[in-house]
Amino acid sequence: MLIKNFFISLSQNQLLNSLAKKYGTKLGARTIIAGTNIEEMIQSVKELNHHGISATVDNLGEFVFVKKEAIEAKKQIIRVIEAIYNNNADAHISLKPTQLGLDINYDFCLNNLKEIVEVASNYNIFINFDMEDNSHLQSSFDLIDELSNEYNNIGTVIQAYFFQSEDNIKKYKNYRLRIVKGAYKEPENIAYQDKKDIDRNFIQLIEYHLLNGKYTSIATHDHHIINHVKKFVKENNITKEKFEFQMLYGFRKDLQLQLASEGFHFCTYVPFGSDWYGYFMRRLVERPENINLIFRQAFNK
Ligand code: FAD
Repeated sequence: MLIKNFFISLSQNQLLNSLAKKYGTKLGARTIIAGTNIEEMIQSVKELNHHGISATVDNLGEFVFVKKEAIEAKKQIIRVIEAIYNNNADAHISLKPTQLGLDINYDFCLNNLKEIVEVASNYNIFINFDMEDNSHLQSSFDLIDELSNEYNNIGTVIQAYFFQSEDNIKKYKNYRLRIVKGAYKEPENIAYQDKKDIDRNFIQLIEYHLLNGKYTSIATHDHHIINHVKKFVKENNITKEKFEFQMLYGFRKDLQLQLASEGFHFCTYVPFGSDWYGYFMRRLVERPENINLIFRQAFNK
């Protein structure tokens, strides 16, 4: 728990974040980040596509408090959408509302998102709204509610550690949903803290959406959960067109390839860009062993 808290506080440190941006993807971050520009990202996506794996692309960045930066992020995401289309890549977009100005002003963020979703809709590209910490949960759902009056190319994420996710998955069952355990540190009055409780709720939410909902993205590196899902879909005659597995770029590559070769739909979350610090630190919080992977990359150049 001490290590977890240590990395979480590092992940939110503004000074370290700006230093990381300045000095690029040194220290091994490149292992889990698909490049710093659109060309490198497209190359990584094409490589995945070659193995029968699709991608969800994240232009890294979050917790933006300056309007100019949020507008630049919006323009960059639109460039990413165009690059996906022009390169005929099998990919869609993942984005974080706080990168598009949710902490600045709700309507400002809504307008930025509208522009992105509109362009993506013209190219028939899906947009997934990543879910952040609990302080942004309700406003993110509000954005989705408003945008879905006009667009149907959007979906979001349900985090299994929240008590309220059981209600949310019922409310959003007509959406394409990614289901995850949850990556932020949340208080015990609103979220399960114990791995056993989170895993139990995670399985319940996955099963609910597989049986009653639209397309389900099961996003986990946990082979126990993956094996459970494989058994569950078989027993319930759920076809492979109804769901996919997702993992993060650079993690458990062998398992990613294996699942794809078994004929499961597989989608890799592909983060790219210079704003990699918060994302990178959260991966260390989740699994301190990840530091081995990262150090090995840093010193084997
Ligand atoms: P963990 O609970 O980290 O691990 C369980 C077990 O799996 C481990 O004990 C180990 O046995 C095995 N394992 C895990 N990783 C490895 C590894 N690298 N190598 C070998 N064995 C391993 N969170 C959010 O809050 N919002 C989001 O929008 C969001 N989007 C996500 C999108 C994707 C595609 C993914 C994969 C995750 C996302 N997350 C998101 C993060 C998620 O909530 C979890 O924090 C993260 O995935 C860690 O949980 P886990 O299910 O992978 O397994």
